[in-house]
Amino acid sequence: MKQWMSLLGLIIWFGLMPNIVAAQAVGGYAAGCQFEAQALPQQGPGFYVLRASRERFYGQASLIEYLQHLGNQLDQAQFPSMLVADIAKQRGGPFAYGHRSHQSGLDADIWLRTPPHTIDRHQLETLSAIDMVDHARYTLSPHFKDQQRLLIALAAQNPKVSRIFVHPLIKQAMCKAYGDAPWLSRLRPWFGHSKHFHVRLHCPKDDIDCEPQAPVALGTGCGSELASWINDKGGTLSSTGKRKPYRPTLPKQCQAWVKQ
Ligand SMILES: [Zn+2]
Repeated sequence: MKQWMSLLGLIIWFGLMPNIVAAQAVGGYAAGCQFEAQALPQQGPGFYVLRASRERFYGQASLIEYLQHLGNQLDQAQFPSMLVADIAKQRGGPFAYGHRSHQSGLDADIWLRTPPHTIDRHQLETLSAIDMVDHARYTLSPHFKDQQRLLIALAAQNPKVSRIFVHPLIKQAMCKAYGDAPWLSRLRPWFGHSKHFHVRLHCPKDDIDCEPQAPVALGTGCGSELASWINDKGGTLSSTGKRKPYRPTLPKQCQAWVKQ
């Protein structure tokens, strides 16, 4: 009887676990918030944080570990460090300006340009992005080289990744370079991603209030779907025009939390 009681206790305890575990991504990527976020250090092996004064360098542990792991991979391959731009605010929720997503600590922007050989805090605040696409000729610019390809490939190979948004021409270049690699499915063509790419991780397993996005389609996505994006030079497939401030309705747990 005693054994049964302790077993029952254990089951109840595990049942309560999701409420006890404080670190959580809550809601959707574009209408959510985060609890117990971690800060990505301002720099580490293979990475630097840009515009740290904006304090958008907070993410869920899963994302912070992912970025540090990616930095380590670059460092070990003796490739240039990556420049990490916006992640999320400490409590998540919508930014006052800028993108719609990045709300639940599972999205991060990584610039495609590499940093100068020596870089200080001031430069990290003021550095400009470099466009990998020559928009007038609608081709990749000469800035898009092997190191950009390698960075995107390493970023996409990690199974934690739900999807990575890249400009259609960049997806095309990755398809050309990596043929039928299964992780190519995670590279999603989207306009507005020619200076940086945007990594989105899956909801962490225990985050019961995290709303996953529909899985990406099977296959590499290098065929007809990509062709429709390449042909859509005007960008009607995604709206990239000026947006009004985005104020979504947040999940209940987030409403007071984000305002505080
Ligand atoms: Zn982004």
